Amino acid sequence: MGYGLDKQIHNIYDPRPATQEELENYHDHDYIEFLSRVTPQKQDEMRSMIEAFNCVEDCPIFADLYDFCKMYAGASLAGARKLCAGTTDIAINWSGGLHHAKRGEASGFCYVNDIVLAILEMLRYFPRVLYIDIDIHHGDGVEMAFYHSNRVMTVSFHKYTGDFFPGTGKLDDNGTGLGKNFCLNVPLLDGIDDDMYLTIFKAVIGDTVNAFRPSAIVLQCGADSLGCDRLGAFNLSIAGHGECVDFVRRFGVPLLVLGGGGYTIKNVSRCWAYETSVLVGVKVPNELPATVYDSFFEDSEWKLHPPLTGKVDNQNSPASLQRIQIAIKTKLRYLQGAPSVQMQEIPPDLQGLMASENRTAEEKDEERGTGQAGERRNPGRSATRNEYYDGDGDNDQDDVGSSISARARGKGARGRGRGRGRGKGKTVTSAATVNTDDDETSTDDSTPAPPTRRGRGRGRGRGARGGRARGRGGAPASTAASDKGKEASAEAEGGDGASMEVDE
Ligand SMILES: [Zn+2]
Repeated sequence: MGYGLDKQIHNIYDPRPATQEELENYHDHDYIEFLSRVTPQKQDEMRSMIEAFNCVEDCPIFADLYDFCKMYAGASLAGARKLCAGTTDIAINWSGGLHHAKRGEASGFCYVNDIVLAILEMLRYFPRVLYIDIDIHHGDGVEMAFYHSNRVMTVSFHKYTGDFFPGTGKLDDNGTGLGKNFCLNVPLLDGIDDDMYLTIFKAVIGDTVNAFRPSAIVLQCGADSLGCDRLGAFNLSIAGHGECVDFVRRFGVPLLVLGGGGYTIKNVSRCWAYETSVLVGVKVPNELPATVYDSFFEDSEWKLHPPLTGKVDNQNSPASLQRIQIAIKTKLRYLQGAPSVQMQEIPPDLQGLMASENRTAEEKDEERGTGQAGERRNPGRSATRNEYYDGDGDNDQDDVGSSISARARGKGARGRGRGRGRGKGKTVTSAATVNTDDDETSTDDSTPAPPTRRGRGRGRGRGARGGRARGRGGAPASTAASDKGKEASAEAEGGDGASMEVDE
């Protein structure tokens, strides 16, 4: 906000907290019940459950833990709903990205897996979701949830030694059953620098997008992969980390951006402020704006991009990275040959249909694009789009809208449900008229062309919970034209929810 980025964001929302029912769309009822009841005062009497649900060590019980979970998960769900509704094409929740949480237990300071919940929500509408994780730790919780799924492809870049938390994520872990080859792991060693990381990131993600053709992307931006992190041992700069975000943004695919780890707090705030500017499409100066937090940044002379790199020896070699890259290319070749990506018929999902029909009035309202669905629009912060952007001549992301409409072949009743939900094309279209100075999407040769979405809008999510994971036929209104509104739902630290909708 010191940089005025909030002025570039179309809307900042206070998302409503997730409900217990929503959390139980993935998590076990017993586990959520436990989270809702446990307090620091009850730790003695609930000791055995606390241990059973792994709420020990780095997953401590603290006051208002359950509220915290509901708020960050609610924000990721709100972002997912807005992407599904087509009322934005980028949503940000920096308080989300808790990728280690499992269906029935906490792990690595993650209690509820907002990423899995958001992806399950997105599968109601998007045929295929790509999950990308640049936290230094393996995105194990998300991988596990979709290990059997061919509708969610997970790609995690992380430090892997066998010992380093969480201990999973080796190159050969590729998914299983229908999900075989729909899970990629890029195991790295200490000290990787911007050049090497960006080389392998762009190669792997470029190849993955071309092969998988995601209809939406979820990007977990854990900042513990930066140099000088208290836990991490990579050598990434904020600019390098942000370049990954920009690379993903340029595909022009509906994008949910989430936070994650990060243990040198001043660099986490720098990183996510910078990445917000990248997503908004605004250049911000290296001089930090004066804020009440000035004292935290004095040691770097108030720079946004302090020197973070070169502190750890780089144990990766060009040859080792090339081996990884070749191995991944080989796996992706299997995937391209897999008819299941686009051809497999999945029977109608009655549960998904019922869930959709039971959507609350608020959610239906939200899908119509009124932006008032359970989350207050933050007065005074919304959209000053026209102050900044003239917005003519922007056509670089029209493929987003047109490809969304290209998906309109849902099956029967399921498709109908969704089509109604999206009957807000006008709102979206008008939002689309106020952009943007971004001319990079279609001009950068290093960026693969945005994929042509050919999905047929059907199928059922295959989270670890099988039938619970639900998807729906596409069948959006074909009026969902080029949406330029970008929005972000974000919860501020301390639980004061705030979310943003941004122009690019
Ligand atoms: Zn991490």
